[in-house]
Amino acid sequence: MADKKASGKGEVAIYKFYNVQGDKVTRSKRDCPRCGKGTFMAEHKNRFTCGKCGFTEFTHIEGAKKARK
Ligand SMILES: [Zn+2]
Repeated sequence: MADKKASGKGEVAIYKFYNVQGDKVTRSKRDCPRCGKGTFMAEHKNRFTCGKCGFTEFTHIEGAKKARK
């Protein structure tokens, strides 16, 4: 797939936010929903954390559990 030149612009932009390692796809950058775009969150083993406001987002969502508040 990669040996062909991209025929359409726009498709390529998607991959900026993802790291493709073998058959795994992980997000490389995650911006904070509180601080807005441009504020990237620190990547941890199973979560992202914003160093600015402290917002934490888990990358592995627990199945049936909804927001517990
Ligand atoms: Zn933040």
